[in-house]
Amino acid sequence: MLSGLKGLGVTLRGALRPKVTTEYPKEHLPIDERFMGFPALTWDSNRVEPYCTGCMVCVRYCPTQCMSAQMKDNDKFVEGDSHRKKIIESFEINLSRCILCGICVDVCNFDAIEMSHEHERSERLRNANRVDLPELLEMGKKYQAEVRWKQSKPSPASPNEKAEIKAVSEAKKASEADSEATNKQSEAPDSGEDAA
Ligand code: SF4
Ligand code: SF4
Repeated sequence: MLSGLKGLGVTLRGALRPKVTTEYPKEHLPIDERFMGFPALTWDSNRVEPYCTGCMVCVRYCPTQCMSAQMKDNDKFVEGDSHRKKIIESFEINLSRCILCGICVDVCNFDAIEMSHEHERSERLRNANRVDLPELLEMGKKYQAEVRWKQSKPSPASPNEKAEIKAVSEAKKASEADSEATNKQSEAPDSGEDAA
């Protein structure tokens, strides 16, 4: 009888304890900001293009060889709107082979790839987890919004911005030279009056 009551007490205590598990996949626990999910490509909203130049460094360092990338000439550089001479043309990661090691993020010099919060990728088909450039950029944009992502250092000026900076600085120098000349003129004694 006593042991029965004890058992009932344990059951009641257990029933009143706050829940520590959820009924996945119906419910989801919140994800920590530092959680490392699958890699995703970041989006440069100032230049309206990806940060990735397709330099292939991450592809070479990936221990599972699950990435591939191809670069192309950047039209925006030719037009003067971007500092990136080359830009990514195609990018693919086979997420079924990714071991979430984060090496690709560590070796990238351009802030172009991040470990996103994406982690639910179970698929029935063998190749369904191969993700392409548009999908990787969508994952990246979502992650950037979630963590209010900022690039580690400002981008260099584009050719158009450089030309604008040069024009502004030349205009400033010219106006300084003008005002200096005007000041000198106003400070100089009037030679006609001196002679009289
Ligand atoms: S993600 Fe970074 S390292 Fe990889 S190809 Fe793009 S720029 Fe290069
Ligand atoms: S996290 Fe590791 S395994 Fe996955 S793509 Fe990057 S380097 Fe490759």
